[in-house]
Amino acid sequence: MTLQIGVIGCGMIGRDHTRRIQQVLTGAKVVALSDVNQANAESVRDDFAPEAMIYATGEALIGSTDVHAVLVTSWGATHEPYVLAAIAAGKPVFCEKPLATTAEGARRIVEAEVAYGKKLVQVGFMRRYDAGYLALKKAVEQHTGAPILVHAAHRNPSVPEAYITPMAIHDTMIHEIDVLRWLLNDDYVSARVLYPRNAARSHTKLRDPQVVILETAKGVLIDVEIFVNCQYGYDIRCEVIGEAGAASLPEPMAIAIRLDAKNQSPILTDWKDRFVASYDVELQDFIVAAAKGSATGPTAWDGYAAAVAADACVQAQESGGDAVAIELSVRPALYN
Ligand code: NAP
Repeated sequence: MTLQIGVIGCGMIGRDHTRRIQQVLTGAKVVALSDVNQANAESVRDDFAPEAMIYATGEALIGSTDVHAVLVTSWGATHEPYVLAAIAAGKPVFCEKPLATTAEGARRIVEAEVAYGKKLVQVGFMRRYDAGYLALKKAVEQHTGAPILVHAAHRNPSVPEAYITPMAIHDTMIHEIDVLRWLLNDDYVSARVLYPRNAARSHTKLRDPQVVILETAKGVLIDVEIFVNCQYGYDIRCEVIGEAGAASLPEPMAIAIRLDAKNQSPILTDWKDRFVASYDVELQDFIVAAAKGSATGPTAWDGYAAAVAADACVQAQESGGDAVAIELSVRPALYN
């Protein structure tokens, strides 16, 4: 059976996910599209899914009997109502991050899913599907011994002028927040933020770089450098130090060129290139589970845990270096 998917939000990532469902992945096709800006939906239909119907609203798309599963790739603030509507309709739903823009919103989704009694939600934390992070997790589980420290960095060459300090957490570090929790199989208990002097290319509404220090329930200390004006490239780094050894995230494959008495290899500059393969794997995983009427991968609970930690980190940005507690509600059995 071919899984019939409806896509809500036909901007950059909705367009790209439609392309991969139509041209790269197996077992599914896009039969429905919706966007507040209908021209975006028409453009995606014309380029990738000529047989797809365009729906005036996301709610109408979710309600259509032609739609077996839903992709929510609209603007972040609209995710919560669409995910709740998909759960109410009993349809598997892949939601791009963030699951909701507040921890309370994510919690409402968890409660709706628990009341439904079955996992239907996959959150788009694609780093869990990256071959490098999967290899790092295996190395930590098999070789380094219990983790004690993690050093991580998230560097972007530059960001638009509208990017301001809290976005370093909500838009950038949110991926580290999820993937490190998964990597360590642990939960965060506190966050602190420290700032060096501002980089010359930053501006008054952006503290850049910044260092977020997270402490986990098992006593691991994590430092994450976020530097979104680093100039030289898009660079994601992660080293785990354990009882017996240390393991690092592998560098992306890059050709080594020996020339003019130098040994050089290029560094990526666009985040889309860094994780392109993991988007394919995460969505294929969604298709396989959704065809069985369920969901796999990062759960609504993971989306909630990330939202709580992100809120604490943003609070810590303003706390003058003091620690801010990270407290989750009791994890429902559905997510054990
Ligand atoms: P985008 O290019 O702005 O696309 C969002 C689309 O949703 C636009 O076409 C927008 O229409 C439409 N839209 C806004 N409100 C809507 C509503 N109520 N109902 C239906 N459509 C609506 O943004 P994007 O970069 O694709 O990002 C979309 C989401 O994916 C964001 O939450 C973002 O954080 C997430 N994302 C995740 C990753 C990742 O690494 N996992 C990467 C990129 C993006 P207008 O053009 O009229 O506003």
